[in-house]
Amino acid sequence: ALEARDVHKSFRAGRIVSTVLDGLSLSVDAGELTLICGPSGCGKSTLLSILSGLQPADAGQVSALGQPLDGLDKRALERFRLLHTGFVFQGFNLFPALTAYEQVALPLGYLGLKRDTARERAEAALIEVGLQSRMHLRPAELSGGEKQRVAIARALAKEPALLFADEPTSSLDAANGQMVIDMLHRIARHHGTTVLCVSHDPRLIGHADRLLTMEDGRILEDRRTPPKVVAKPTGTSR
Ligand code: ATP
Ligand code: MG
Repeated sequence: ALEARDVHKSFRAGRIVSTVLDGLSLSVDAGELTLICGPSGCGKSTLLSILSGLQPADAGQVSALGQPLDGLDKRALERFRLLHTGFVFQGFNLFPALTAYEQVALPLGYLGLKRDTARERAEAALIEVGLQSRMHLRPAELSGGEKQRVAIARALAKEPALLFADEPTSSLDAANGQMVIDMLHRIARHHGTTVLCVSHDPRLIGHADRLLTMEDGRILEDRRTPPKVVAKPTGTSR
């Protein structure tokens, strides 16, 4: 679902050039939940933004859903992101003036969904994250955990093939963190979404199919977590 080959990325500050990604390659299968960890500043967030088309690599190839991202112009890239990707950030990134419902429903309008369809999907996503009684509140009236669940509902409602999450539990308490983890797990399992998550949260490791460790601008370690015993067959994947 995601493929990066020999990706390089450097940032320049004055005359100092620091290399963040140094020939990084990786390949992520569809429907898997992959966890990325590594020391602070090693380039995890930069990698997510390159894989999701938010910023370009300096060199190397990135393709998502079989589409080489460097072959797309700015508009096509925006369209691709809107249609196929969801993003969950540590800081939630909600619009202060919009209610929980509007945060989720408005992007669906941009996707070109009919109003009724958008409403149904937005409500279903908010119910799925347990916010049925909070739909008409604005971010200032929601707790941190509730805000993160709105952000997840927003990503979920789009039914994206790819979901990127950057330290989604790090500003949450234990209970809300656990809820977000369970949801990411469900999204990968039941919606067949490919989830790429940066996190240091040890609880997430138990839910991940694969654990990638970054260091020195590359993937240092690539470990498949042992398959879990499941009571019934899992859903379809794409
Ligand atoms: P953390 O775990 O602390 O979030 P990270 O692994 O996500 O760290 P990145 O945010 O990817 O790290 O940053 C990697 C390095 O690239 C850092 O040294 C950072 O200062 C630098 N960097 C990231 N974005 C930019 C930018 N837009 N301009 C200049 N330097 C940048
Ligand atoms: Mg980061």
